[in-house]
Amino acid sequence: MSHSDLVIVKTKNPKPKPDPNRLAFGKHFTDHMFVMDYTRDKGWHHPRIIPYGPITLDPSAMIFHYGQTVFEGLKAYRTEEDKILLFRPDKNMQRLSRSSLRISIPPLDEELVLSYLKELLHIEQDWVPSAEGTSLYIRPFVFASEANLSAVPANEYTFIIILSPVGSYYPEGIHPVSIYVEEVFTRAVRGGTGAAKTAGNYSASYIAQEKAAKKGHTQVLWLDAIEKKYIEEVGSMNIFFKINGEVITPALSGSVLEGVTRMSVLELLKDWGIPVVERKISIEEIKKAYENGLLEEAFGTGTAAVISPVGDLNWNETKMVINHRQTGDLAKKLYKTLTDIQTGRQADPYNWTFPIDE
Ligand SMILES: *Cc1c(COP(=O)(O)O)cnc(C)c1O
Repeated sequence: MSHSDLVIVKTKNPKPKPDPNRLAFGKHFTDHMFVMDYTRDKGWHHPRIIPYGPITLDPSAMIFHYGQTVFEGLKAYRTEEDKILLFRPDKNMQRLSRSSLRISIPPLDEELVLSYLKELLHIEQDWVPSAEGTSLYIRPFVFASEANLSAVPANEYTFIIILSPVGSYYPEGIHPVSIYVEEVFTRAVRGGTGAAKTAGNYSASYIAQEKAAKKGHTQVLWLDAIEKKYIEEVGSMNIFFKINGEVITPALSGSVLEGVTRMSVLELLKDWGIPVVERKISIEEIKKAYENGLLEEAFGTGTAAVISPVGDLNWNETKMVINHRQTGDLAKKLYKTLTDIQTGRQADPYNWTFPIDE
């Protein structure tokens, strides 16, 4: 199979573009989507770009019953020169393969998928918004589409890429959030699916998310499932702490999702000569650092918000207010550097950005 198999069917009814200043996350979708099928005998085949719209599935489609599915999330940005840039899409494609392997989904050809994505973006380029902080969110996903109730890996899958213009995560400027440390529920456990970007990890986490929201907090901080001691991640972001001048992020334990933003932050910090380590870190250690006045900053990292500073961390009866609920200097510098590289405002010495041909 090669790119020349790609079939393109353009819509006859292009939609009006939404108001770029009022873009809610994941509510608006572009005119076209990419679709490809898999069967055991043909492998991945029939790549096509078609008008965006509902799909039909048999009620016995295996995705509904056993949740065999993986997804990705990345963004395309419009530069001041009207170029369109992707940020490290190769890393998302590699992660899609790793997630697929874990969920027993047949892998896609990473380079080929990236070339289809570029083709889709080429067609949809007018949908990449230009207002400050906006971007085109890209959601590739694969699911078991075979009609069959057997609890075994499916013989048929569908791969789809949809695109959604999204607004600034921080319409009123970057601001710290309140975090609740979850002690009862678990998101993921070593040997489980925590390191794969798969739907079940999300549905398993909602109950704690609802609990945190009821208590007035924005996000959940997850502890390891076995000892309930070590920090894993926060909501759907990886987490970093700055303690006494050193930056610490939980090591990839097998149950932590390896974020592309996390990876990029680690590379930037090393480049800037800021001490940084990936290691196990317990919530008790954070509390001690806080009590000793050494907990300087905490922030989450992920594609949606890029950098999300933590204003307070709530663990049982302890409320740790971090940096007077102000965004720290390091969080600010990382946010500016990453978003400047993503939008082409700053040179990209790391070759992280991939242009889309116009
Ligand atoms: C996607 C995701 C992240 C962040 O990954 P990025 O590649 O930086 O967007 C972190 N944790 C979880 C659970 C995720 O699903």
